[in-house]
Amino acid sequence: MTSQATGSTASCADPEASTTLTVTAAREAILANISPILTTRRLPLRDALGQALAEEIVSPVDVPGHTNSAMDGYAIAGSDLPKQEYRDFTLIGTAIAGTPFSQDCRPGECVRIMTGAPMPNGADTVVMQEQANLIDERRVRIGTGHRPGQNVRQAGEDIAQGSVVLNPGKRLTPADLGVMASLGIAEVGVRRRPRVAFFSTGDELRSIGEPLGEGEVYDSNRYSLYGMLTRADCERLDLGVVKDDPAALKQAFVTAAEAADLVVTSGGVSVGEADYTKTILQQLGEMHFWKIAMKPGRPLTFGRLGDSLFFGLPGNPVAVMVTFYQFVLPALHYLASGTPYRPFTLPAVSGCAIRKQPGRFEFIRGILGQQTDGSLTVNSVDRQGSGILASMSRGDCFILLPETCDGVNRGDTVTVQPFSALV
Ligand code: AMP
Ligand code: MG
Repeated sequence: MTSQATGSTASCADPEASTTLTVTAAREAILANISPILTTRRLPLRDALGQALAEEIVSPVDVPGHTNSAMDGYAIAGSDLPKQEYRDFTLIGTAIAGTPFSQDCRPGECVRIMTGAPMPNGADTVVMQEQANLIDERRVRIGTGHRPGQNVRQAGEDIAQGSVVLNPGKRLTPADLGVMASLGIAEVGVRRRPRVAFFSTGDELRSIGEPLGEGEVYDSNRYSLYGMLTRADCERLDLGVVKDDPAALKQAFVTAAEAADLVVTSGGVSVGEADYTKTILQQLGEMHFWKIAMKPGRPLTFGRLGDSLFFGLPGNPVAVMVTFYQFVLPALHYLASGTPYRPFTLPAVSGCAIRKQPGRFEFIRGILGQQTDGSLTVNSVDRQGSGILASMSRGDCFILLPETCDGVNRGDTVTVQPFSALV
């Protein structure tokens, strides 16, 4: 149902083969298979928050529209400033934002002016009220130490008429809405949001509200996925829990692919269960079964299901979140906007030693702190097991330990990726 097409991935010619890939190589192979959504629609400004801009926004006006005062004070001509001692000016009126002073300000005269008020004709300089003396109702004394043109905002200083304000693909922030409102723009063209269908697989899974039998667990993945997809600003289609049963799985895959641009499942890709999932997926589309040199999150299936992109994430709740953030989110961002996904990272000093073998990328859950001098520190969450979802809840960042890293000593600087940057 989508406009995007997928080609063959760079990674494996034989889809039966399990290929080991680095995190970077997997991400690149995924992105190479995505064509951004091009369908656009026009929305009222408020409704466009978070969505990808489909057009270039060019300013129809100057902002500010008129040269105005940046301070409460007195407007004068800069050429009138005293060269020594002081000079007294005749106060001829008041300019307030929304109520301009319409007479000219001539030599020797000043106008009381409030922040945002248009500068009167003849005045190009504002002396702050704290730096002037009101001698009587009609006389203002101004000393030396001022600069012609000070405390004045020029028309077009913020945004010049005809300049490009926002580029296509930008996901609109609260500030972007404000900027467009300041230009008088009421409607904006955005790209259609991606539709994402998701479900959990596993015979042991129960939905919350149901009683738990022996060996059964509540399905948590659909809730963390719901949260991450909501933050990512897509349309969600929750297809529930599907049994590890070939017919049920096949039906679910087909339904999901018909409804969505992108399908995300969790579970069923680890060794043992993978066999029939693999068989079904191969019947329905073009699939790649990867082992990623990473922890947590090793097995990952990526491919095309009908016209939809497909991600088969591991079942493990922490691995679901890590692989979503590292692979699905960049894919969704590119699908929605056509722009690269670049969540920021920060350096932080590790408050603890972290053991690690080189060869794989590890995503350690960390807790950020800040020292009195403002520098960041990070400590790993104490229990890091990939089934321990509370580690994601207690943590607020990933400590990124790339393939070559062979461990961290206390006091070493590491790179962290705050969860708050992963949207
Ligand atoms: P799997 O990849 O299906 O073998 O699952 C790996 C582990 O994650 C098992 O312990 C599963 O019980 C658990 N798991 C799988 N799916 C979910 C889910 N949706 N919610 C919570 N735990 C899950
Ligand atoms: Mg399972």
